[in-house]
Amino acid sequence: MPFVTSSKARPAYDVIIVGSGAAGGQSAYVLTAAGARVLMLEAGRNYDPISETPMFNPPMQAPLRGAGTPDKPFGFYDATVNGGWTVPKEPYMVKNSQRGPGWYEATDIDLWSTGQNFMWWRPRMLGGRTNHWARFSFRMGPYDFKPKSRDGLGMDWPITYEDLAPYYDKVEALIGVFGTNEGLENTPDSSPGILLPPPRPRANELLAKKFCAKLGIPVIPSHVAVLSQPQDAINIPARLHPDNPAAARALADNMRTRLACFWATSCGRGCAIKANYQSTTVHLPPALASGNLDIITDAMVREVTIDEKGRATGVRYIDKASGKECHASARVVVLAASGCESARILLNSKTAQFPNGLANRSGKVGRYLMDTVGAGLRGQIPMLENCPPYNEDGASVMHMYMPWWLYRDQHAGRLDFPRGYHIEFGGGRSMPEAGTFDDLENFTGGSYGKKFKEDVRRYYGSFMGFAGRGEMIPNEDTYCEIDPDKKDAWGIPVLRFHFKWSEHEIRQAAHMQKTFAGIIEAMGGKVLSPPQSDGSKAIAPGGGIIHEVGTTCMGGDPRTSVLNQYCQSWDVKNLFVTDGGPFVSNADKNPTLTIMANAWRACDYLAGEMKKGNL
Ligand SMILES: Cc1cc2nc3c(=O)[nH]c(=O)nc-3n(C[C@H](O)[C@H](O)[C@H](O)COP(=O)(O)OP(=O)(O)OC[C@H]3O[C@@H](n4cnc5c(N)ncnc54)[C@H](O)[C@@H]3O)c2cc1C
Ligand code: SF4
Repeated sequence: MPFVTSSKARPAYDVIIVGSGAAGGQSAYVLTAAGARVLMLEAGRNYDPISETPMFNPPMQAPLRGAGTPDKPFGFYDATVNGGWTVPKEPYMVKNSQRGPGWYEATDIDLWSTGQNFMWWRPRMLGGRTNHWARFSFRMGPYDFKPKSRDGLGMDWPITYEDLAPYYDKVEALIGVFGTNEGLENTPDSSPGILLPPPRPRANELLAKKFCAKLGIPVIPSHVAVLSQPQDAINIPARLHPDNPAAARALADNMRTRLACFWATSCGRGCAIKANYQSTTVHLPPALASGNLDIITDAMVREVTIDEKGRATGVRYIDKASGKECHASARVVVLAASGCESARILLNSKTAQFPNGLANRSGKVGRYLMDTVGAGLRGQIPMLENCPPYNEDGASVMHMYMPWWLYRDQHAGRLDFPRGYHIEFGGGRSMPEAGTFDDLENFTGGSYGKKFKEDVRRYYGSFMGFAGRGEMIPNEDTYCEIDPDKKDAWGIPVLRFHFKWSEHEIRQAAHMQKTFAGIIEAMGGKVLSPPQSDGSKAIAPGGGIIHEVGTTCMGGDPRTSVLNQYCQSWDVKNLFVTDGGPFVSNADKNPTLTIMANAWRACDYLAGEMKKGNL
């Protein structure tokens, strides 16, 4: 224990968890604390953020000054290892408008020049995408769980905000989230004492707040999974585990090893002082300390196996180091491999009993794939020129944001699209890196020498970017399925993607463009490219915002959903999916906090059912 090889694994476990990211980490945390003996299988390599994070390396020490490359799209220092828009040996198939009809293997190309209908970002490392995500942690609100009841589109969740609210509190307390309670419509407050204080706003954020107030757009502290102060290692563990002293102790011990952020380095590289949330530094250490968790890395799961009664018996996986096929057994299987990958495993688990794939009697596995609507605009703000130097690095992402504010206008029919978006924005004088001065040459008039240096000092920090993150409504034309021909290097059939934005999302993207231009102009700035009135020219390609959810939807009816409200398969009682797959809508709130809250709720139920002998 705890990192094992296939040959050293136990003959059987209580639970197998596939994947070690936000969902897998959260599931392992809850189940091991409840006393279940758990095997976690992770397709990527072992990864240690403490020893592997180059927190203080300046861009000049990196090839190409750290600029993004096809194998490192987010730059040389990004924490992702062995992952990206494409993963070696693991193809997926897409349509490509630049290449004509038919199916094509996805290739590494720039997000904005791709002709691909879908971009699938996959990590291959312990902790998954949590090692480099941006850490925005927004709760879905009461409206977001019942969207169909409000406007007749899409589907309602089988749960309400009130069902998940206690789990949002728990996750926020566990991982550490800064932010404030503002009492705004459908932008829920946390319980008192849960959120950490937010960092001070930067100059550009205060300026945006001032001018957005005139436009009626709220600008409030962001919610980010970064420790703005050390966690309360006495009261939080007692609050989270009132009847479980061992779990409280393991959590307290790990909390004491986490330091507060020093606001100076890039969170996308990971955090060696454990100040931000990564599954590897927050979920897995207490789970390992329980003595109940074994982890096998480089283990690529192919399928869930079942017995003659149709119950899951374990999973078959490829040990990537040896290339051998292995089997692991357990009473319960939890898929947490990310929405599309969990759907792939189910669709590949075909048997005579389940000819369309496991847990797929509804025919809905792979259906209702969703991403987030994304569109952006940049501007130059003269009021921010010649700012005196000061440290604006902060939590490396925005300290303030704009939640969706037009609920009343929408309700009154004054908007031409349903649902909403929030605005993520940034600018200022963070540590320069490749791309920081991309906008500069439009303003210097080709200056060089002394004049160029003066221009740089004048304009550095005066550029601001605004990005909308909006709700996509699930549609029948957007889904993933198994490609009939293509297999990966381990002989596992791969996914192919159908993706279509509807008019709802396209009109929303156009509204974003108009709003951002209005904000930039209200600040006395100039937009750097003309805002698009045609949203289809502004919207990011499907998958581009990397908020892949849907594909194993939960619901109240086995005929129309894959899972019940506890993420348990209707068809196979000892099979659960705890990643973004169960989502039936994709509110404008970034999904990971909800993935974790929902996984915690599902695993509480799972542990309870095991104790009752029902699983
Ligand atoms: C650059 C970036 C920024 C982001 N910013 C935000 C943000 O600010 N806020 C937010 O809410 N979300 C954000 N996200 C999205 C967020 O990372 C995901 O929602 C979250 O990580 C999903 O958790 P997960 O556990 O489902 O999947 P992952 O974290 O991707 O973990 C899945 C794990 O399963 C493993 N796996 C996959 N297939 C198999 C298999 N067959 N066998 C064994 N193991 C397998 C993978 O290797 C991986 O480690 C961002 C993502 C990226 C890439
Ligand atoms: S900004 Fe803070 S949380 Fe992020 S990597 Fe640096 S120290 Fe860690």
